[in-house]
Amino acid sequence: MLLDNVADVEKRIQNACNRAGRDRKEVTLVAVSKTKPVSDIREVMESGIIDYGENKVQELCDKYEVLPKDLHWHMIGHLQRNKVKYLPGKTVLIHSVDSLRLAEEIEKDFWKKGMDADILVEVNVARESSKFGTFSDEVTELVQQIAKLPHVHVKGLMTIAPYTDDPESNREYFRKLRQLSVDIKQKNIDNVSMSHLSMGMTGDYEVAIEEGATLIRVGTGIFGERDYTI
Ligand SMILES: *Cc1c(COP(=O)(O)O)cnc(C)c1O
Repeated sequence: MLLDNVADVEKRIQNACNRAGRDRKEVTLVAVSKTKPVSDIREVMESGIIDYGENKVQELCDKYEVLPKDLHWHMIGHLQRNKVKYLPGKTVLIHSVDSLRLAEEIEKDFWKKGMDADILVEVNVARESSKFGTFSDEVTELVQQIAKLPHVHVKGLMTIAPYTDDPESNREYFRKLRQLSVDIKQKNIDNVSMSHLSMGMTGDYEVAIEEGATLIRVGTGIFGERDYTI
């Protein structure tokens, strides 16, 4: 059943890539497994997907412990500074960095374990009050500050677009995020690359791919609806 979902998502990704004239290899599908059991992940792993996204540190660590160590774990949710210390060695990318204080904590905790951290800066492009993320007019300055931390490497930008039934309505936000990354790239900041754009979820990942996403975060479309009551 889950493998049918993956096949469907794969087909849509390929079609979106075709429409945009992009190579499928430019887009990494991150399967968002939050709230879902390890048995579901094992099933999805049969498709060959190795990238998984979690939004809670505890859950990420629990799943990391019991699953094969060659999976790539993405921390995609709001991150509290006191939880950063559990992440070194477990995550390939932290998508949700939205303050210098958090980046400084990552610098400290990763370096303590002799490691570097790849991160994305989360941008609240639509300026929704319910969302985390830095505002567009503050991103460049934040990136410049984080760039000074020697063991934290900014690899791009991430956004969570508004929840909507009409994916087209989010196109403008994906475009804005891409434009922001182009602007920052032109500044040639040391220790900063803008190779990744993490944008697009189940409802809008096709539009996000058309607008340049390199990482899409798909939960419901692969694992089905989440039950938060249990
Ligand atoms: C839950 C979550 C997703 C996946 O959402 P779906 O709509 O189920 O695909 C993507 N990104 C973030 C940051 C999330 O928290």
